[in-house]
Amino acid sequence: MDKARLLLKYLKPYKWSAIRNILYNLLSAIFALFSYTLIIPFINILFNRVAIVTSPGEFRLTIGYLGDFFKYYLSAFIDKHGQAGALLLVSLLFIVASLLKNGLIFMANNSMAYIRACTVRDLRSKMYHKVLRLPLSFFTNSRKGDIMTRISNDVQEIEISVMASLTMLFRDPVSIIIYVLYLFITSYQLCLIAIVLLPLSGWLIGLASRTLRSSSLLGQQNLGRLLSVVEETLTGLRIIKGFNAENKMKAQFAATNEQYSKIFKRVTRKAYLASPISEFLGTIVVMILLYIGGILALKGHSNMTSETLIAFVVVFSQILQPAKNISTAWFSIQKGMASIDRIDQVLEAEETIVEKENALPIQGFNDSIEFKGVWYAYNNEPVLRDINLKILKGQTVAIVGKSGAGKSTLADLLPRFMDVGQGSVQIDGVDVRDLKMKDLRYLMGIVSQHPILFNSTFKENIAFGVDKADMDKVENAARIANAHDFILETEKGYDNFVGESGSKLSGGQRQRISIARAIMANPPILILDEATSALDTESERLVQDAILKLMKNRTSLIIAHRLSTIQHADLIVVLDEGRIVETGTHAELMNKKDGFYQKLHSFQAI
Ligand code: ADP
Repeated sequence: MDKARLLLKYLKPYKWSAIRNILYNLLSAIFALFSYTLIIPFINILFNRVAIVTSPGEFRLTIGYLGDFFKYYLSAFIDKHGQAGALLLVSLLFIVASLLKNGLIFMANNSMAYIRACTVRDLRSKMYHKVLRLPLSFFTNSRKGDIMTRISNDVQEIEISVMASLTMLFRDPVSIIIYVLYLFITSYQLCLIAIVLLPLSGWLIGLASRTLRSSSLLGQQNLGRLLSVVEETLTGLRIIKGFNAENKMKAQFAATNEQYSKIFKRVTRKAYLASPISEFLGTIVVMILLYIGGILALKGHSNMTSETLIAFVVVFSQILQPAKNISTAWFSIQKGMASIDRIDQVLEAEETIVEKENALPIQGFNDSIEFKGVWYAYNNEPVLRDINLKILKGQTVAIVGKSGAGKSTLADLLPRFMDVGQGSVQIDGVDVRDLKMKDLRYLMGIVSQHPILFNSTFKENIAFGVDKADMDKVENAARIANAHDFILETEKGYDNFVGESGSKLSGGQRQRISIARAIMANPPILILDEATSALDTESERLVQDAILKLMKNRTSLIIAHRLSTIQHADLIVVLDEGRIVETGTHAELMNKKDGFYQKLHSFQAI
């Protein structure tokens, strides 16, 4: 039931469409029922059994009056136009009823299509917005793939299994209720018998399809095993051939293949069996009803006549399909519920980085950045331990240390990609957690190790952080970042597309665009994840030059991978296992005998 509530939560905004849908379904069921009951006058006319009614009687607001009126009208009509004319009338009525019924079904489906498309759209966009709000620490590498699956596969699964079933779940119970009501009014004895027989045969059919489901699950598992053998073979072909192990692999494959084929045969046989069984059971039920109804009619029981019995059976047979649909829809929804659960887990994940209600604005950076007794842990594993560091305005501070020392984590705390576990990060004496998030991030420009470009033009990539891009400014930023020349060499210049993730550019070019982006945003504080290691010498020179120009008159925090590039930093901070182990200028640190920095330096010098 909890899960049903989850589903309802996502459907709630569309409750009026849902109500409209049910209303259309109700009307269409009524017209359907009306068309089926037309069989009664049809038979009566055909066998010349229409009673001559001279008056509809006193007006009453009842279904009985409606019936009487219809009988009166029909008898008058036959009187005037003859039997053939009356048959034509009934046939035309049937067509009109069927037209209305199907038109209403279309309208119901239309409103359902709206609900389906909108709910799925909402789910996707909710997931996407959530991704933008969750803290960076949420997205470990394994999680990224998982979130992708949830946004694509799970949402699609909901679309296919849950949303498609909703159409049936909103329609079929309505039809069943209307039909059963009619059956009950026609003959409550027969109706009661039908009500007992129906679930019984439904249960029998369900039994067959349940074993089918479990076998097909087994089949899927086996197919997985089969595919993993193939994959193993493909990746290990060199070894298989080299060790003459073809026969061994063949035998392994043959065994799995055989097993799969056995299960597949079983599944197919059961699937083929399901339909005849359900049809046969349906026939038994209908025949029992016909038989009992026939006896009642023969005995001249109250209102059971041969034509009402036929109408009864026709209407009853119309219940079978919707009943089957409901059970299919129900199982299908169960299947999709797992996906709803998985999506809900992401949507309900805690957003730890939120702005305080009374957050303070900050327009500029005046004095200093300070890390005070900062601790940070991923899953209770501390990666920063008691960090104390003061960066004065205008300084260039480099953080060095082995990979995994905690350098990126330290830098991520400043723009609040993550929040400290203990201690505080302050800008001009104010905790970053007390500041307006947008203001805080406007103060910073980020150039990351792997430059991130978006699949749009050079111009849009450079002006990514500003709302209105002035072409002169974009060009100026590109010039400073040494990117202007190569941009102009492309076919459309600044309007040229960079390709997905900048795939049409070299690493150095990508990096220069991302530097131009930072120059364009013109923030007072820079966070540089230094990235010249993977570049060739020429590119490195251009990028390095661009970085130096970018850093001019700003306060910079550099994560340094190569020590040669940060020798002129005002302060070098050496991190090891999350602790600051040394600080000083290049000269000071090099003078420390057996110091961490000196060791790092000598490793890189080799
Ligand atoms: P550096 O930048 O110095 O290479 P990081 O700050 O990236 O180091 O990482 C510090 C430690 O935190 C590493 O041991 C890393 O494995 C771990 N770590 C980084 N990101 C995550 C994460 N999202 N989830 C769990 N552990 C992480």
